[in-house]
Amino acid sequence: MTHLFGTNGIRWIIDDHSIDYPVKLGQAAGTYFGANSRVALGMDTRTSGPMIFNAMLTALESSGCDVIDLGILPTPAFQYAVKDLGVAGGVIVTASHNPPKFNGLKFIAGDGTEFSREQETIVEKIYYDDALKRAAWDKIGKQYRERHVHDRYRSSIISQAKLGEKTVRTIVDCGNGTSWEYTPGILTKLGCEVLTLNAQPDGRFPGRLPEPTENNISSLMMAMKLHESDIGIAHDGDADRASFVDDKGKFITGDQSLALFVIDVLRKKGSGKVVVPVNTSMTVLDSVEENGGEAIITPVGSPLIARKMMEINAVIGGEGNGGVIFPEHMYCRDGMMTAVKMVEIISHNGSVSELVAQLPEYCLSRDKLAIPLGMRDEIMKKVKNEAQGEILDIDGIKITHDDHWILVRPSGTESILRVTVETKSKEQCNNILKDNMNWVKEIIQNLS
Ligand code: MG
Repeated sequence: MTHLFGTNGIRWIIDDHSIDYPVKLGQAAGTYFGANSRVALGMDTRTSGPMIFNAMLTALESSGCDVIDLGILPTPAFQYAVKDLGVAGGVIVTASHNPPKFNGLKFIAGDGTEFSREQETIVEKIYYDDALKRAAWDKIGKQYRERHVHDRYRSSIISQAKLGEKTVRTIVDCGNGTSWEYTPGILTKLGCEVLTLNAQPDGRFPGRLPEPTENNISSLMMAMKLHESDIGIAHDGDADRASFVDDKGKFITGDQSLALFVIDVLRKKGSGKVVVPVNTSMTVLDSVEENGGEAIITPVGSPLIARKMMEINAVIGGEGNGGVIFPEHMYCRDGMMTAVKMVEIISHNGSVSELVAQLPEYCLSRDKLAIPLGMRDEIMKKVKNEAQGEILDIDGIKITHDDHWILVRPSGTESILRVTVETKSKEQCNNILKDNMNWVKEIIQNLS
């Protein structure tokens, strides 16, 4: 059985599938949630959003589900709504940070967390077995419109913020995505000065691509140099992530911002467990250790991080891509909450560039290589057998040495292997990456 779900839901290029595809996915979702259940439905700002939203709406109703239409909203606001409204679960039409031609679906469980792998497998089985249930004429689901929960979500975030004396000057780059009605307003309400970029929803993403990487947010970096601002904030399309630019116009990496949040939480709490995936930088891991915390390592993927956090009562968790989970708020990545927490740190401590300068510095480098179809498991087995050092094999093979680590990890969606290295010295970084790329290439050649 082919997996429909990737690391974060189902994604596809709109032109590659007819509308039958989301209709069948919607029927599978409706069959999973069951007749007479209430299911929330939302979407991001993509051009294909209303089309897929309506297909899902029809399909869910045909399965006998009542649909709560939440309209356009960020993924974390949607997750909040699912829990707040007490519905059976929800589906949000979003392709997160992918380019405009993509769209996709994220399935949310009744507690507001992303579907577990087990729940995804049940939906996949219903889909592939054609075990789709249809409601009789008098049991077809109804449609309800709900907008008040959006305000409750905003209020919940505002109530979590404890800002200091300093008025924080911000520039928010919404990237034409779902954050436009959230982050600027929330920060204004908290007393921040707010300038915006790309703060109009537009599924063509004319301002910039939806992923807030250093390359994609050059306008924000430029704006930070032109205006005297304290922090630049950039969200991805569905606003579960936030990237930052410092007061000098320099990009702050996701690992650096995660380290700042970890330090802040651990200093307040004194100790606690911090959940991060296997590809997390030593900048974060050192910050956990130096501040009395304990790092718990999971495979890559925010649903796994969130569930592990719930299980062990972690104080914070997140990924090095700007997706951070603050458990007091919700067990999901939340770009708005992440932005507010960064502003909170600055309001108490001053310049973010000075805070980043105090973080331990490492050099992270990555490359990828194509692998022959169907040989993934064989290659990874050989990598594990030949690897020397401390081995962690929960997701790919991570090899840790005293002053560096290497991660060889197959992509979940493409026939490629990614090789990541992180070293203490910059000089070592490229050489170690080159050596390890050669090692993996040799393994592939010997097996082919
Ligand atoms: Mg996202």
